[in-house]
Amino acid sequence: MAVVTRFAPSPTGPLHLGHAYSALLAHDMARAEGGVFLLRIEDIDPQRCKREWEAQLIDDLGWLGITWDSEPHRQSERLPVYQQALDSLWQRGLLYPCTCTRRDIEGALSAPQEGVAFPAGADGLIYPGTCRDTLQLERSFPEAHPRPTEATLRVDMGLAVHANSIFTHRIDTPEGGWHWYAGYQETSHGPDRRSGLIEFTPQDMIQGVGDFVIARREMGTSYHLSVVLDDAAQGVNLVVRGEDLAAATRIHVVLQNLLGLPTPTYHHHRLIRDDQGKRLAKRDDARALSKYRAEGATPADIRRMVGV
Ligand code: GLU
Ligand code: ZN
Repeated sequence: MAVVTRFAPSPTGPLHLGHAYSALLAHDMARAEGGVFLLRIEDIDPQRCKREWEAQLIDDLGWLGITWDSEPHRQSERLPVYQQALDSLWQRGLLYPCTCTRRDIEGALSAPQEGVAFPAGADGLIYPGTCRDTLQLERSFPEAHPRPTEATLRVDMGLAVHANSIFTHRIDTPEGGWHWYAGYQETSHGPDRRSGLIEFTPQDMIQGVGDFVIARREMGTSYHLSVVLDDAAQGVNLVVRGEDLAAATRIHVVLQNLLGLPTPTYHHHRLIRDDQGKRLAKRDDARALSKYRAEGATPADIRRMVGV
């Protein structure tokens, strides 16, 4: 099967060296195999995304010598698709509205001892379940209540991991027991990454991720939902992205199972760090590609700097 991969930036700031690495790696993998490389603009956050950044990133990618094989796909034009998926999950009773503020969540989580860190999951704080517990009765007949459209919605992870058959593989543990798990395939390109099957169990999802937000009130969707629906809609079978997103991949695999979508192969690459070993953030204009361009760097210089 020919590789179909993509680069999926959010136009919230300038592209920096880390983005260049991600885009070049995915692009080169597709080209080396005669596959398809796609560009997707992840602009679901109207507060942070700007058309100027989109124009700039398209210009930067073109300058790098990256070409894509069809018109860029823009997430802000796909809200009806995301809404439909939310409706179906709502009808199945897997979602509930949450009105908690961050402060409410921290309050509910506050540990008996002062100074104990809050449990952090793949998607921020692990939600303590406040709204899930208060809404238990109303949730018995989801089809009788329309999905609230202007609300933050969470996935009831305890129910989700029992829905369909997400965890279909049984594995024996060294202690003589066994557990169910789901897995996804990880490839490696170059010596720095693992490859093989990454396993995770229902407990990993309940205790390590919890009831994550699948729709934000102000967006009507979330990164997790949109990315999963779009990768499937675009036929992406290889996702190349930074290892900072590796924890989110388990959430994506659960969503793919809930929505009946195929799971691509994942390649989580190393992160490009600055001289102090710090991760490059988008706000960090110091590493913006446009700055290197203005200083006279060539695309070959950029390739050398990131090692592709
Ligand atoms: N839009 C995400 C970002 O800007 C990347 C999403 C992905 O590759 O899955 O980092
Ligand atoms: Zn809540």
